[in-house]
Amino acid sequence: MKKLIYLDYASTTPIDKRVLNKMSKYLTIKGIFGNPSSSNYLGIKAKNEIENARINIANIIGSLKEEIFFTSSATESINLAIKGIIYNYLTSNKKYVITSILEHKSVLETCNFIKKLGIKIIYIKNLNNGILNLHSLEKKITEKTILVSIMHINNEIGTINDIKTIGKICKKKNIFFHVDATQSVGKYSLNLKKMNINLLSFSAHKFYGPKGIGVLYIKKNKSKINLIPLLHGGGQEKGLRSGTLATHQIIGMSKALSIANDEIKKEKKRIKVLKKKLWNGIKNISGIYLNGNFKNSSPYIINLGFKNVFNKILMIEMKNIIVSSSSACNTNKYNISHVLQALGLTKNLIQSSIRISFGRFTTEEEINFVIKYLNNSIKRIRKS
Ligand code: PLP
Repeated sequence: MKKLIYLDYASTTPIDKRVLNKMSKYLTIKGIFGNPSSSNYLGIKAKNEIENARINIANIIGSLKEEIFFTSSATESINLAIKGIIYNYLTSNKKYVITSILEHKSVLETCNFIKKLGIKIIYIKNLNNGILNLHSLEKKITEKTILVSIMHINNEIGTINDIKTIGKICKKKNIFFHVDATQSVGKYSLNLKKMNINLLSFSAHKFYGPKGIGVLYIKKNKSKINLIPLLHGGGQEKGLRSGTLATHQIIGMSKALSIANDEIKKEKKRIKVLKKKLWNGIKNISGIYLNGNFKNSSPYIINLGFKNVFNKILMIEMKNIIVSSSSACNTNKYNISHVLQALGLTKNLIQSSIRISFGRFTTEEEINFVIKYLNNSIKRIRKS
């Protein structure tokens, strides 16, 4: 098999052609390229299209359209959610934010930043299987806690946190709850009306939409959430996120989410079969480790360690089979995965681990090929 086998969908996905086609109608002189803040004909048309996209996205995630705020990415949404709340409390005696050591760097680095402003961060540990320890979370919440920020699905090991129960705990204790849902929107059905989540972040490029567009969901309820904006300017998005709205990106995200949502259950079932097939085909390779757990994890992600096989060498050996040595961000700045470290893996085993993530274009034929390839290449590397 000569063609590329892409198995890094948790890092990013290719744009669906139907999405690209739709987006192209909002870019050129013949399209609806006007500034959505302008009151001319083209601007009004663009604004209407954006509002339709907002309604569509809201319907899919079970929110109100007034609760959807467009940003440039999940990273920006996360920054706005956490800093936006915290900036209200800098002179208050409420000083605590609770998060987990397994979060994505966009949460952890935002927490590192607000630490310098005097906010104290409490990191909840995970159980051995990579799931957050809810008992420990509940015990750590006090009257000085402002916010809890926990991811739904872990981007490196695929473990699923029980955000429904965490939401209930936060509601009972009257604490804001932010969810990083970057790895779940478009793959898991969410009904935010039924969940006690105050803020939720995601990016379109994880579900075959364009890069450079994200959403921050902000629950509208009696205990109004007052966020301090990060960007000041033209006052778009009710003053929370200034900057000309990117019509084509928003339309693309909405279309991509509709496509993903139409097939959500069927696709999850299909991917589950492929993940199981892969694991069954390689689990007898000597010195193989499954990082995290199989039972309570997303079918879209599997993280594997191969004793005494350096992952960078394995990835070179795998050539046109595209996988990841860790999350995309970790590979740039951090040498070692903080997630695998938190699971208690040794440095050697962390450097022998790869993440395989499945998606819309993954086929059974590709998985069969990867099974054969891994069985042979691990032996070959160990011999050399
Ligand atoms: N949160 C999680 C769980 C992620 O997987 C990612 C990206 O990989 C992000 C946040 C950041 O997303 P983006 O780079 O689109 O801002």
